Amino acid sequence: MSLLEVDRIDAYYGQSHILRDLSLEIEDGEVCALLGRNGAGKTTTLRCVAGATPPDVRSGEIRFDGDEVVGRETEDVSISGIGLVPEERRIFPNLTVEENLHLAEVSRNSSNLIGRNLSQVSETRPLREIYDAFPRLDDRQNQMAGTLSGGEQQMLAIARALRQNPRLLMLDEPYEGLAPQIIEDVEDAIRRISEEGTTVLLVEQNAAAAIKIAERCYIVDQGEIVYEGPSEELRADEETRQRYLGV
Ligand code: ATP
Repeated sequence: MSLLEVDRIDAYYGQSHILRDLSLEIEDGEVCALLGRNGAGKTTTLRCVAGATPPDVRSGEIRFDGDEVVGRETEDVSISGIGLVPEERRIFPNLTVEENLHLAEVSRNSSNLIGRNLSQVSETRPLREIYDAFPRLDDRQNQMAGTLSGGEQQMLAIARALRQNPRLLMLDEPYEGLAPQIIEDVEDAIRRISEEGTTVLLVEQNAAAAIKIAERCYIVDQGEIVYEGPSEELRADEETRQRYLGV
């Protein structure tokens, strides 16, 4: 059984049919990339897995560790072990780095835990472990998050998701707007996260960068999966890259 199984989903925004019979599987422990052009349906796929609405999943199933996810609340999905770093990062600019990281803990300890089987709720990761993994944040604990560089803000967004100790971390275009040197820092962070045992689903338009760290790739085009294979294979397959990714 794969850790995440997206099984033939059809998803809509209102009347617009966005994802069509889309399936993908993420194995426990791997780094997998979902690639595609602007508007192909990458973010929509992540939103379906994370339990966000819209989109509306009208058919198909999504299973995480064997349990059905469709129809569950976002918070519930998060508690079950799926972390999402959204494209817009959503850090709190007027709070410090440390306060942003504390908020992850507060949300995990608040009323949304009432009535849950607490043995199934993961502990938040200690701040010290997070700072060890992100030394740039360690140096800037008391800096206002809004004054961090783009790369540092991306690190903070990832660090905040990691505080919740997800088994699967989904990253939506983490390299967007970052300079090549900073992209390398974020790549290193993702590699470390993976080495520590977290499964990663990386959504990117920047196919070249994603292929570097993912073991396996999917390509989505107009809401359909049009390619699945090892990164090596896609790297060598110029025709597919040109056709669906324009690179
Ligand atoms: P990008 O890299 O530009 O974010 P993407 O592959 O993530 O692209 P999606 O954001 O999943 O693409 O969008 C897929 C399609 O769904 C697009 O045609 C988009 O216009 C449409 N769409 C996205 N969000 C909504 C919404 N809230 N309401 C209606 N249509 C939407």
